[in-house]
Amino acid sequence: MESSAQPWYRQLHWQILGAMIAGAIAGGLGGEAIVPKVGWLGTLFLELLRMIILPLIVTSIVSGVSSVGGGRDLGRLFGKTLGYYVLSSFLAILAGLAVVNIIRPGAGNKAFTGPDTALPDLKTPNSPVDLLLDIIPDNLVAAAAEPNYLAVILFSILLGMSIAALPEEPRGRLVGIFDAGFQAMMKLTSGIIVFLPIGVFGLIARLVGETGFSSFRALALYILTLATGLSFHLFVTLPLLLILLGRIRPKNHFRNMAGPLMMAFSTSSSAATLPLTIRNVEEKVGVSNRVSSFVLPMGATVNMDGTALFECVGALFIAQTLGADLSVLQQLIVVMTALLASIGAAAVPSAGLVIIFIVLDAVNLRGPEVDAMVGAMLAIDRPLDMYRTAVNVFSDSCGAAIIAKSEGEPNIDA
Ligand code: ASP
Repeated sequence: MESSAQPWYRQLHWQILGAMIAGAIAGGLGGEAIVPKVGWLGTLFLELLRMIILPLIVTSIVSGVSSVGGGRDLGRLFGKTLGYYVLSSFLAILAGLAVVNIIRPGAGNKAFTGPDTALPDLKTPNSPVDLLLDIIPDNLVAAAAEPNYLAVILFSILLGMSIAALPEEPRGRLVGIFDAGFQAMMKLTSGIIVFLPIGVFGLIARLVGETGFSSFRALALYILTLATGLSFHLFVTLPLLLILLGRIRPKNHFRNMAGPLMMAFSTSSSAATLPLTIRNVEEKVGVSNRVSSFVLPMGATVNMDGTALFECVGALFIAQTLGADLSVLQQLIVVMTALLASIGAAAVPSAGLVIIFIVLDAVNLRGPEVDAMVGAMLAIDRPLDMYRTAVNVFSDSCGAAIIAKSEGEPNIDA
């Protein structure tokens, strides 16, 4: 395992941390003026990562699923994966529900408007049926170009199952091709990740250079509530799941996942972090491709604990501010829709905030005041997005480790 064998300054997570600090200092000192000078470094790096996501997902899933085979093995793995996704997201929402009811960040707050920030134009499904129909691609190339990752994931799983059902000769050849393709993508990932600290420097310098801090004060209590909920889930609930369900030492898992955690934090995108997540879960945590290819790509798009918690806290915060205290039944509706919304949220920056309208709509909170509040929340969303993305990624990796352990894989997080 590379982490302990190398001097600390050559370890990726220290390099990323150093780049984050250097970026924050550069952005703080340089202000807006520095943005055009270094911002492109971050963009360049994100583009390199996005370039490999699609072939990485396809080769990883097809080679993984075709090696699981079909029938009962696949069904069991699928059941465990979905079970974990729902359990962990549900626990996250409960933590959110608890903190928002205890701290009550919106009580006594005046409705406010923020700077006039336009919401990003992200496609959001309107209902669970929409979500389902969206997953089945009528045109695979269009789905890949969009990109609609869930559609690509579904196709790759079906292709993997079909390959597993073929007779020996064509099956072996196809499995070999996808397996080799996956290894090549992992090599490419490692190559790109060498430049990660430079990319992180650019991303953070741009972020700090562009953002003012004044809007943070009005929403301080809301920020505190979210940070408390997310921290509880990251440092209490998920470690407990690791211990209870996987007999895994959380300390080891945190150590092995330090790189992807910081990367999720810097990019605010589970999808952009996916290549590094897969690499660390396989090479450091020690999970087989058979399990990781099943849990991680789907998890990056579907299993978003941090986002689920955020939907619940955000919606109830708005309700409290507008004086619309919700009944227990309405809070239950928030819980259920928060879960669905987090499933529907794309794995890109700010997706969670855009999709909050689904939750608000379910309890009849709409209108110009609500829009203005979401606008104000968007203005300060980036740091919160960074934190919830890190929680999203960490939950996926915990799921992969727990499921691998339950499948009898040895030396997980050893
Ligand atoms: N940025 C988050 C992610 O990629 C989604 C969100 O906005 O909550 O996981």
